[in-house]
Amino acid sequence: MQQIHDYPLPAAEAALWWLGQAGYVVRSADMTVVIDPYLSDSAAKGTPELARLYPVPINPAELRADVYIVTHDHLDHLDPETIRPYQYKGDTWFVAPRQAAGKLIDIGVPENRVVVLHAGESWKHGAVEITGVFALPSGVDVLDTTGYTITFANGRQLYHTSDTEMHPLVTAAAPKTPEVLLVPINGKWGNPGPEQAARFAQALQPKYVLPNHYDLMALNAENPDTFEWFCRQYELGDRCVIPERMKPFKWGGKPELNDIK
Ligand SMILES: [Zn+2]
Repeated sequence: MQQIHDYPLPAAEAALWWLGQAGYVVRSADMTVVIDPYLSDSAAKGTPELARLYPVPINPAELRADVYIVTHDHLDHLDPETIRPYQYKGDTWFVAPRQAAGKLIDIGVPENRVVVLHAGESWKHGAVEITGVFALPSGVDVLDTTGYTITFANGRQLYHTSDTEMHPLVTAAAPKTPEVLLVPINGKWGNPGPEQAARFAQALQPKYVLPNHYDLMALNAENPDTFEWFCRQYELGDRCVIPERMKPFKWGGKPELNDIK
């Protein structure tokens, strides 16, 4: 985590670090936001096929953020074994839809640090504004699943869809031309597969689209190269970025000299 906090970032830029599954650490405008970090192996307890395929990239006791976003109350997004050892519950703002917010309080997050945020609602803290975006839930137990856009005061922005079916209403409600779109591609339990995710990206025309939710569990795997191929078919080829876990993906800066042809 220290290397993330120490990573040099010019004022106009943002960087994200993918934690695997749908989890991220994002830094910009001197703020750190985490989204859906899954830093344990809790899902394997009920379903061995959902065991982690690689070690936890950050010890949850070392995680630190100004804002901690949870999109819905499923273990791979709201993980008690990540939140219980999280040390900064009293200093961090937690943003979540109502059901997930209740779970956060049940597992020890102080109620006065929890912000309930649904689709269409916005909340601002310092240099970051977070807005809930409609998602179509992947189960009746998470009917208030919410995607979120995160916009920093320097203009950097990203949209995390959460787990969602790609109903036309979801496309209609989604922010158009987001700078960064983070979208699941696992094609199971209601989430889009590679082609549907690419079609969704085509409708939104993001500057960059990064796939997620395909790498951590054998039962829930998909090939990101298939997504990249479909992105090329939908003329998004150069916007598709297959992330490397824990390697910074930086955007928003002036082009490097050697990028200028
Ligand atoms: Zn999920």
